[in-house]
Amino acid sequence: MYPRLLVYVNKMKENAEILREKLEKLGINIVGVTKLFMGHPKIAKMYKDAGIEILGDSRIENMNRMIEAGINGSFMMIRIPPLSRLKEMIDIVDWYLISEEEVALAIDSMVDRTVHLIYMVDVGDLREGVMYDKAAEEITRIKSKLKKARIAGVGANIGCFGGVWPTNENLKSLINVAKEIDAEVVSVGGTIYLMAVEQNMILEGINQFRIGEAILLGTDITGGRDIEYLNQGTVILEAEIIELKRKPSKPIGSKGYDSMGRKVEFEDLGERLRAIIAVGEQDINPYGLTPLERGVKVIHASSDHTIVDVTEVDRVVKVGDILRFKMNYSAVLRAVTSPYVEKVYID
Ligand SMILES: *Cc1c(COP(=O)(O)O)cnc(C)c1O
Repeated sequence: MYPRLLVYVNKMKENAEILREKLEKLGINIVGVTKLFMGHPKIAKMYKDAGIEILGDSRIENMNRMIEAGINGSFMMIRIPPLSRLKEMIDIVDWYLISEEEVALAIDSMVDRTVHLIYMVDVGDLREGVMYDKAAEEITRIKSKLKKARIAGVGANIGCFGGVWPTNENLKSLINVAKEIDAEVVSVGGTIYLMAVEQNMILEGINQFRIGEAILLGTDITGGRDIEYLNQGTVILEAEIIELKRKPSKPIGSKGYDSMGRKVEFEDLGERLRAIIAVGEQDINPYGLTPLERGVKVIHASSDHTIVDVTEVDRVVKVGDILRFKMNYSAVLRAVTSPYVEKVYID
């Protein structure tokens, strides 16, 4: 069935092994992040087979899915848990990333075993965490109120929201907090932190990397690059041509917004051979697709239709043909989440 995703779990495993070995030498453990594939058990198993012990996910539904498939952790909840859903998590999650006293105290009052809390510190990306200059005080205050749960350390996330890259300066702001609160675990993510390793930045005391993208796709979208020592092309989209016609390249008539509310400008290249493939915004991010066939160019998409220019393709293109694409993080995210896209896991 098309559209479908070919997921090369074998190539991901190679990535995981390469990174595990590289980071192990620096005393850094990997938390294998499963959220991009909604906690698919094959992805979880891939991490485990590569020697990665902790699985990180942002959603309890995904953890339940892994548990049902016989993957029994340990699990790190990498999104701050909502108070209203702690009950569902308390028997499952061993590691929590948190940033609020209420959450720390709620977990503490509910658990009857050791769980590790990682207090998030915002070093500048401006997503979760207490600002670094206020962190030590806040964490110390909360620490003294906990009875069963314990604050094992501190963590930071950069790249994902603000697009911030690691620097010796923002690394130091985390390391300083870690020292002040006597952290055992210092946990950073996502993938962009690999840059800190490659460029020999200060990693003193940092002993945990939460990584998804680099292993699953071999890319570093915040860094705008393929990671050259890892495999790319781990996820391929196949979609079918349902219409193929010569048409002008610039829409005719006065123009407002497209179905996604965007103002789009099309270049006038004269008449072109345009194919519609049966996949759209509901399934993929069209701007995250890279055609694997020379001469294919993605133009634009609405909910269910993606238009590609195939004028320069070096063969006879026909209705019913399958076109193949590499995908970036956001395209994969949407495709995995779309029930209309078949997934084929190859191990
Ligand atoms: C998604 C996420 C990660 C993994 O990020 P990648 O860029 O996919 O490696 C790590 N930590 C947190 C808190 C996340 O939300």
